[in-house]
Amino acid sequence: MLRIPCPHCGPRDHSEFSYLGDATVTRPADEAPLDDWFAYVYLRDNPRGPHREYWHHAQGCRQWLVVERDTLTHAILGAAPAREASPNAAAASAKDSET
Ligand SMILES: [Zn+2]
Repeated sequence: MLRIPCPHCGPRDHSEFSYLGDATVTRPADEAPLDDWFAYVYLRDNPRGPHREYWHHAQGCRQWLVVERDTLTHAILGAAPAREASPNAAAASAKDSET
């Protein structure tokens, strides 16, 4: 059993969450080549060790989180709101400040 430390709700059983995938992938620019978009949509690494993943607290606060989990031991190393910890968050906030 995994205990995920939701920053809003505290430690919760992983059964309250839905796994949503790799949180290390960054969205390419709109005008990026098709190969970049193909890699963004379909290609993923299968790392051994600490890895950042998207989890949705579906049966709790309904927030998206970035959880760092060791894929070898399943130890949870930390969790943060996705709007702050996502690799796309910095790009999104920079884009918001342009408008
Ligand atoms: Zn929560």
